[in-house]
Parts: sequence; structure tokens; C-alpha cells
Amino acid sequence: MRLIDIGVNLMNSAFDGDREEQIFKAKKAGVGPLIITGSSLEQSRAALEFARLHGLYATAGIHPHNARYWNRESAALIRNMALPGGSVAGTETAAAGAIAGAVALGECGLDYDRDYSPRAEQRRCFEEQVKLAAELKLPLFLHVRSSSQGGGAWEDFFAILKNYRTDLTRMVVHCFTGSAGELEACLELDAYIGITGWVCDERRGKHLRPLLGRIPANRLLLETDAPYLLPPPLSPGGRRGRNESANLVYIAEFIAEKLGKNIETLAEETFKNTVEFFSLEL
Ligand SMILES: [Zn+2]
Repeated sequence: MRLIDIGVNLMNSAFDGDREEQIFKAKKAGVGPLIITGSSLEQSRAALEFARLHGLYATAGIHPHNARYWNRESAALIRNMALPGGSVAGTETAAAGAIAGAVALGECGLDYDRDYSPRAEQRRCFEEQVKLAAELKLPLFLHVRSSSQGGGAWEDFFAILKNYRTDLTRMVVHCFTGSAGELEACLELDAYIGITGWVCDERRGKHLRPLLGRIPANRLLLETDAPYLLPPPLSPGGRRGRNESANLVYIAEFIAEKLGKNIETLAEETFKNTVEFFSLEL
């Protein structure tokens, strides 16, 4: 059995003490390669560099929390990081001292739940990255979180994506936590759905469980979003500990059980989806 964690924030400071060990720990559990999520220009660059050194993969983009840092140069910097790693263009980039080879553009999207960046700036930063993904024909790694007060992030999110859909290749709504209607709308856009350990949460994840069966087998992707979202059954004494990619096995077993599927079948299906989605050369 082999699983790929499509979203681990491995450059997060929570892993400063044992970043490399995380790779081996995951591998021992049957999880690998890892796809490191880029959430700012600095982190994306660090992720790509670390990925290249350790045979992993990384995305490049700006998270909605960091949208206010978007400026005129951002698109050019992401464009460089998205150049193919091993091609002639990649060699040129490497010669210029830049880091290339991102397997997807993101994490980008809208987060009206925490509003760490003003919403207008979030929309601009998101739309610019969607445009770039359309131009570069790169898959999108998407984040969307609506405010509990009905902030309407999903409406804005779908409106922006629909505008560019015909020019976009693949997209994944990472850490999907939305409603049945929002799931339907994602599937109408032919988006892949990323499921995290959120679904294992007795309280917050309950509504998600009946939705799992509505995700087509060829559109499901698995992720930890580590160090965040440690599945509560894995937290000692209910304390929120650090999540790790190795825990993807637990999440996959949980989902397989809810789907009434054999874990090997689920692993095989999601592995194939991941390789196709990110065009991985394994
Ligand atoms: Zn996210």
C-alpha cells in the first residue's frame, strides 16, 4: 500500500527540529512522496529547494492569509518557480539562481473565516494566480473557507473560477469542509476534492461523512494539512498536538471504512489520482 500526502506544510516552523526525519517517518508508514504546500513566496521557494534535495514535490503560490503581500513582482516570481525543473527553461532558471519545478499553483483562494488579509485583496491575489495557472496550464491547489456569519467566500470563489474554467487544467479544493451544495458546485467545475483528518473530527467533521460517497472515486485526493488538523482520536488527552504526514494512513483507513471500501483499493485509487493530477514522474 502506498499513499501520497498531497498537502503537508513541511516548511512550517513546527517541523524545524525534525524536517528530514518527517520524510523517513512517513515513508516507513507507507506515505510518500510528500507534496509540500507553498503558502507564501518565501515558503514556496524554500519548499521547492527542500523538495529538490529530498526527492519530494512542492507547490508555489500565495495563501489568502498572505494576499496583502501580493505586488507587481509576485506573478513573475511564481512564474519562475513554475518553470519545469529539468527542462532547458529550468536550467536557465537555475542559472539565474531561482528555484523551479512547482507541480501546482497554490495554495491560493479565499478565506473569509479569519480575514487575515482584506477580502478585496484576497480576491485580487486569487484571481491573479488563477490567471497564471490558466496561462501556464498548471493545476491549481485551492483553499476556501467561508465565514460562519455567511461571508460568501464560496460565491466569490466559484465566480472567479468559472470565469477562467475553460482555460484551466486541473484543480483541487484542498481540505474540503463545505456543504453538499458546495461539493456539487465543485464537481460541476470538475474539481478534485482533497479530504483531510477534519473528517475524523466527531464534532466538526460529522457533516462531511455522508458527502464522502458523493465524491467520484477518480476525483478524491488525500492529505494531512500537517502540522494542522491532527485527527482528534490521535491527540493525547484531547490536546491539539502536531499532525504529521505519517498520520495519512489513519485518515485513509477512516475514509475507507466510511466508504465501505478496502483500504488497498482506496490507496490505489487515490495514488493514481494524485499521479495524474500533479503529472508526477515516479
Ligand atoms: Zn488551506
